Amino acid sequence: MRPPICAFCGKDFRDSTSKGGLVRFKLTADEIESNSRKVQSNIVFHPKGLEWFCGDHILAAKKLSHLSLKSALIKMSAPTFANQCSEIITNTSVISLFKSINVNWHSVLHLLAVDENIINIKPATKKDKSWSPMDGCFPPNCPYSLTEESETTHGQTSVRHSYTVAYWNDDEISNTQYSFYYTQKNKILFALSAYANANNPITCVDFKANQISAEKFKHIVSEIMKMNLTQI
Ligand SMILES: [Zn+2]
Repeated sequence: MRPPICAFCGKDFRDSTSKGGLVRFKLTADEIESNSRKVQSNIVFHPKGLEWFCGDHILAAKKLSHLSLKSALIKMSAPTFANQCSEIITNTSVISLFKSINVNWHSVLHLLAVDENIINIKPATKKDKSWSPMDGCFPPNCPYSLTEESETTHGQTSVRHSYTVAYWNDDEISNTQYSFYYTQKNKILFALSAYANANNPITCVDFKANQISAEKFKHIVSEIMKMNLTQI
């Protein structure tokens, strides 16, 4: 039997086993076979489908114990909220997310309840190209990134978003990234970022919020995502 190291976060809780514990998951036919072979051979082993979870993760693991260990770990790695939002934006590329938020810029500012003075200011836009020399290759033969950004500022409040397409060469996209920031006095109140391999649909979404309640935050994100679906 392995020492108590959380299968989800890697935390070693040998010194405080009181909170964590073992969880038994559904076994596949192969795992049942493997376990019984080892029992018969009479060697020391850690049974398949039985794993340690620390105090922070044992409840979530127990709730998923009707699944195989692998499926449970995949489910646990997607926090519920991010998971819901990710489902909404499946099949959306970074560029279409950027474009739809651009089209709905006013509505987004309203949702964020930014200072009234900022709502009617036309966003400033800019486009940039930057080179990334590597492997002895220099412009124009090295990888490069194209970035497009829109920003509305008023006093110490700023709302901006951008996307970056990283190219290996003119015919090959490496990845695309999106980011959205609402800041006041250089402090982030709301941020959203998304990542996609090449120009594929977004696979990874991240959100951050300060001084905005979880419920409001969730509402803003889901409204933004809905705009994304309806406008493009
Ligand atoms: Zn853990």
